[in-house]
Amino acid sequence: MSQSALLKPALYAEQGTEKVPDHPALNGGRCACGHVFFPMQTYGCEVCGRHGDALQPVRLSGRGKLVASSTVHMHAARAPAPNAEVKPHEAPFTIGSIALEDGPTVRTVLVGVDEKTLKPGQTMVTTLVPVGTGAKAILDLRFTPAT
Ligand SMILES: [Zn+2]
Repeated sequence: MSQSALLKPALYAEQGTEKVPDHPALNGGRCACGHVFFPMQTYGCEVCGRHGDALQPVRLSGRGKLVASSTVHMHAARAPAPNAEVKPHEAPFTIGSIALEDGPTVRTVLVGVDEKTLKPGQTMVTTLVPVGTGAKAILDLRFTPAT
């Protein structure tokens, strides 16, 4: 049993998918029309407009290709921390857009990257990092280059 808690369990899961078992999965959705999206929601499909039960949860593999990235050196407007038990983002940090193998593109914080060597098209995978400030282990999702 894990002693740690996920910061946003609605958005991702500790286990991977059958296709990518070693990296946490993202909690996306699939519409009856075939459109796959992230995060899961039932308000309406952005392609066909179906809603409710036409939109079903689906696990998305935590692997994709880097589309673009940028490094934030000065954080002008710090977003309020969602909770005091969690460390705020401190500059510099790198944000990337990842086109997931399962379809959607997500914008996320990257870890373990060197800005100078990041290349669009390179394979990125999900990883969980500790973000807690206290004794409680809290994990949040990041993307990092595949090894
Ligand atoms: Zn649809």
